[in-house]
Amino acid sequence: MFKNLINGEWVEGPRVTRNINPSDTRDVVGEYAQADATQARDAVGAARAAFGTWSLSSPQQRFDILDAAGTEILARRTELGNLLAQEEGKVLPEAIGEVARAGNIFKFFAGEALRVGGEVIPSVRPGVGVEVTREPLGVVGLITPWNFPIAIPAWKLAPALAFGNTVVMKPAELVPGSAWALADILQRAGLPKGVFNLVMGRGSEVGAVLLDDARVDAISFTGSVATGRKIAAACLARMAKFQLEMGGKNPFVVLDDADLDVAVNSAINSGFFSTGQRCTASSRLIVTQGIHDRFVSAMVAKMQGLKVDDARKSGTDIGPVVDATQLAQDLEYIAIGQAEGAKLAAGGRAVERNVDGAPGFYLTPALLTETTASMRINREEIFGPVVSVIRAKDYEEALALANDTPFGLSSGIATTSLKHATHFKRHAQAGMVMVNLPTAGVDYHVPFGGRKGSSYGPREQGRYAAEFYTTVKTAYTQA
Ligand code: NAD
Repeated sequence: MFKNLINGEWVEGPRVTRNINPSDTRDVVGEYAQADATQARDAVGAARAAFGTWSLSSPQQRFDILDAAGTEILARRTELGNLLAQEEGKVLPEAIGEVARAGNIFKFFAGEALRVGGEVIPSVRPGVGVEVTREPLGVVGLITPWNFPIAIPAWKLAPALAFGNTVVMKPAELVPGSAWALADILQRAGLPKGVFNLVMGRGSEVGAVLLDDARVDAISFTGSVATGRKIAAACLARMAKFQLEMGGKNPFVVLDDADLDVAVNSAINSGFFSTGQRCTASSRLIVTQGIHDRFVSAMVAKMQGLKVDDARKSGTDIGPVVDATQLAQDLEYIAIGQAEGAKLAAGGRAVERNVDGAPGFYLTPALLTETTASMRINREEIFGPVVSVIRAKDYEEALALANDTPFGLSSGIATTSLKHATHFKRHAQAGMVMVNLPTAGVDYHVPFGGRKGSSYGPREQGRYAAEFYTTVKTAYTQA
């Protein structure tokens, strides 16, 4: 059984959960301890106690530990990628890529621990000096979703630790394996006890402690809008700092002048890869009328060739949906779309067993055409391999449709026009804009995040992560 990490000790919980492989539901990935509220409070206490020493630890110590963790993650990328694909269902090459990303993030933030600088600014008063420095926040609670089981924990944990905070992390219930592996690696990399605590368990119980305990100074959350709202309300009630990364309804605009292969490959990648379960997935393809029919035909043809099968089998393009609840939600939205007048041009069929007879949550990728901006399938996040096509008159209408959403995470365009690409980069209402690239798939060393209903608070990743994980101090000295 895999245990929780509290104050440097591996401890059992009052309950155990079974981690199930969505590619083959007979396969149990492992049994994982589930913490309760008391253990979550113990973890917060341990993090609080460890903060004093860790916040004053040398940058060299923090560099060494994060760098060692990054090295081990990269060295074990195939093994950890296997575990990730087994518990979450994204295909093996994507899972290995995600693990490598986590390793690179640890390496990047190891370096950032050495680079925390400040400013010396002349005072407006004679004889006075002003220094602006950054200090850690204290205890940070990290609450993560299931769709990036190692990369999201890594991109929160690495900066939190690099800047001298202590951490209590609660991973998503569906994917405890990757988070546990990360805890094991960090523990062996030499983190002092209590600096990082892992409490696996339910959001409403373990997560709730992190939100309500006054000893937790800040919360970094990634997940759904509904949970994000609860996090925001709880943090505001006690004035804790918080950061939210939530859903998306990302548009991908295809203009008449687009290179058809670039447009189709980008749409297939960001619509359906990782089973469409990416917050940056393109779920709305907005296509101008001169290329619309050719684009739809090419999409349907390409989709017929996509292999939906076991995530770890070589040759699989799309793995299973993560669980039965998410599969039911995907199918429900396909039915809602059809009832609203959309045409199901391809896919959208649940497959109970793969070619080897293994029971899993398989769904053939679905393309809904003849859809309009006001349909629910174009306004609400589905979070599966379900993509809709909206027809647009011209670039101006396509841009307006792209921005007509409560979300604003990622936005893409396929065009060979420099004029339209340049205009789109400036006017897309999103935190990230892609030209002739899928809306999903980002670098690990630059800011990540959105605007409108997708995100709240400072950006994650890259140097911008310091905005959340540190607080600024202005010190005045009379010489
Ligand atoms: P979720 O909101 O159901 O759960 C996220 C985390 O919050 C889990 O660890 C869960 O246990 C915890 N939680 C649930 N209720 C809680 C409560 N009352 N108090 C404290 N914690 C609680 O989301 P999910 O289904 O795991 O993930 C899918 C969602 O994540 C999608 O909406 C997706 O768009 C979003 N996502 C966003 C980004 C981004 O960066 N914008 C990245 C990945 C995923």
